[in-house]
Amino acid sequence: MFRLITVHGRSALEYNGEWFDLATLSGDDALRDPLAAVARFNELHAWNDLCATSAAGGTVSSEELDAPVPAPRQVFAIGLNYREHAGESGMEVPPAPLTFAKFASCVVGPTADVPLSGSAVDWEAEIVAVIGTQCSHVSVDDAWSVVAGLTLGQDISDRVVQFTGAPPQFGLGKSFPGYGPTGPALVSLDSFANPDDIGLWCEVNGERMQDARTTELIFSIPVLVAYLSSICTLYPGDLIFTGTPSGIGAARGQFLVPGDDIVTGAEVIGELRNRCVPGAAPLSL
Ligand code: ZN
Repeated sequence: MFRLITVHGRSALEYNGEWFDLATLSGDDALRDPLAAVARFNELHAWNDLCATSAAGGTVSSEELDAPVPAPRQVFAIGLNYREHAGESGMEVPPAPLTFAKFASCVVGPTADVPLSGSAVDWEAEIVAVIGTQCSHVSVDDAWSVVAGLTLGQDISDRVVQFTGAPPQFGLGKSFPGYGPTGPALVSLDSFANPDDIGLWCEVNGERMQDARTTELIFSIPVLVAYLSSICTLYPGDLIFTGTPSGIGAARGQFLVPGDDIVTGAEVIGELRNRCVPGAAPLSL
């Protein structure tokens, strides 16, 4: 078991509420780099055991945490992967994972502010799978073995930018700075009773907007990993936002405004707490 976090730009393990710098703990300076730590996820279980008899770097404070993978090489995201969400969006359930990219520059930590790019910015709570092993053409049966662990993400979406043009291109509307809060920790798969059954939710200003379980995913995490790896080479640290359940703002006629507090939660993983602030609009052409 392990909870991999990033403290002051360096990889660390969270253990009993305290953090342990991974390079210090292991004596291997290469492990200060989150991408290196993720690629060696199988070793993290042993370093975690060592925390019990080592000196902590400090108490974990969520404000000090960066994203568990601050600079992933690729960030995949899946649209319409919960049946009720496809319904509220007025869309058919897709025949294959409806995949788009979030550009890596949008990835931020669990308590980062979200600068709003317009008046139709929306929340999307999602479980995020983190690849641990470079791979391609992984079978569904083997897919969990290349996953380093799971974290939580917000696929913040500017609906105007997302749906501009025909056909619409989702990537940019979901890639403004701060539109990819993740964390608070990258949690090992053996931390979950069943990694295919995780509760997740989202609250805006204390009102519960989304509440679901990953058992409701149309394409499960192993299927997503198998499918994506049949097309793209996947690398350690790559993120897969697995899709959001129903309850988004667009279906409610309600969008985020400056001052809103978004709290996103998942069983075992923890919470993201993000405050909306005024941001810059895209260039108008
Ligand atoms: Zn999404």
